[in-house]
Amino acid sequence: MIQTAQNIVIRTHPNDNVGIVANPSGLKKGTVVWENLMLVQDIPMGHKVALKNLLIGEPVIRYGQVIAYAGEEIPRGGWVNETNIRLPRPPALQDIAYIKPEWTPPKPLEGYTFEGYKNPDGSVGTKNVLGITTSVQCVAGMTEYICQKIRRELLPLYPNVDDVVAFNHSYGCGIAIDAPAAIVPIRTIQNIAQNPNFGGEIMIIGLGCEKLRPERLLPQNSTEASILYLQDEAFEGFESMVEGIMELAEKHLQKLNRRQRTTCPASDLVVGMQCGGSDAFSGLTGNPVSGFAADLIVRAGGTVFFSEVTEVRDAIHLLVPRAIDESVAQALKDEMAWYDDYLERGKADRSANTTPGNKSGGLSTIVEKSLGSVAKSGTSPIVDVISPGDKIRKKGLNFVATPASDFVCGTLQLAAGMNMHVFITGRGTPYGLNMVPVIKVSSNSKLSARWHDLIDFDAGPVAFGLKTIEDMGWELFKLILEVASGTKEVATDKLGLYNDLVLFNPGPLT
Ligand code: CA
Repeated sequence: MIQTAQNIVIRTHPNDNVGIVANPSGLKKGTVVWENLMLVQDIPMGHKVALKNLLIGEPVIRYGQVIAYAGEEIPRGGWVNETNIRLPRPPALQDIAYIKPEWTPPKPLEGYTFEGYKNPDGSVGTKNVLGITTSVQCVAGMTEYICQKIRRELLPLYPNVDDVVAFNHSYGCGIAIDAPAAIVPIRTIQNIAQNPNFGGEIMIIGLGCEKLRPERLLPQNSTEASILYLQDEAFEGFESMVEGIMELAEKHLQKLNRRQRTTCPASDLVVGMQCGGSDAFSGLTGNPVSGFAADLIVRAGGTVFFSEVTEVRDAIHLLVPRAIDESVAQALKDEMAWYDDYLERGKADRSANTTPGNKSGGLSTIVEKSLGSVAKSGTSPIVDVISPGDKIRKKGLNFVATPASDFVCGTLQLAAGMNMHVFITGRGTPYGLNMVPVIKVSSNSKLSARWHDLIDFDAGPVAFGLKTIEDMGWELFKLILEVASGTKEVATDKLGLYNDLVLFNPGPLT
């Protein structure tokens, strides 16, 4: 464990009436912090200390929000935990009223830029990648073979192209393609092909007899895209198919190789925020630091999104008031209702309920846990809500509805159009995507020391008062610009560690 001479209690918002003990060994009764706050009992790491006397029924405020009500009188310096508080019951979705927030836009942030690849549709890439989309899993062996061959034989001839990526998935055939939920995987495949890092060069490999017709995956008015079917009678055997695909790939590589980085405003950033393998520090360090960076991106005119429905569901009554208008508030509630129904059909419970591990880590209520998770969204108003697999339509802070599963969320965020990914972890995961750079943020310095070559940014110093959330938020913002420019390489790109993309298919198989 990291030793610190200081006694650290962290307040996550100026209005909070509880602070969090950050010292790895907790703090003992009688310890004095902030010169005049004396602990009246032992409090473990990650747990809450009352910053004032709390009367019965008085709200317990963390992240500036009510996370509980005092169930008994709690003295200043006392330990606030699940035994002495009453849980607020989140109201039913239909009862959450919307009152338009009083929101004064913060001062715009000007003068921040990155070197990106401008695309004809106005989007901007941070990598230059040949994307091979597939319409059915049947062709996956072939596309894997082709990608290796392209890397070996063609990429050296096109030095401006970073990589070739095949989007293999389990969809396309053996599916109920007319089921209402089929729209989710279909539009996901369609929109991933249009990710800014592919530069509009769309190449689709199909089999020929599959239910999902490759033509359906083309964007509207597409003239440049190419489709190849393995069952095309022009092909005589394997080698002839390989030749056909290589020819097509070369056509796209020639165009991609002409792409040049140019100076783009920070408003062209589209940053997807996600967490996985979280710990007690995530909501204290990594998530608020990422949230601060998110606010800077929004102030610079850029786009940020957060996701993971099951992580936000129980704090939805606190997110609805952040919607920019009534229709966005309704869309947020609709996405929650859709997911409730999806889980119910699978006879599953909401997985986000606090676990014994959460409680011993200091997360007393589900609202507190959810607020720790949504801290990565910052404080900006939510301007739009995107259904799973859909593409973003507005700049600013978006909620992109996805499951919390890391790869499924990452896949849907790629479809939404992200060109940068920030991933916060406490326990550690080698998670990486080859389509966009993934900046991995550790919530504690112990992890970043142990995984020194897998973590890109350590938010741990915040826990020990060595740096502020604000300072680290600025550092992360600047790192995002550097990585987006290609001047700094993230750990997973250096090591070539990439996860498979995983489609979200809420529809039935046949
Ligand atoms: Ca996740």
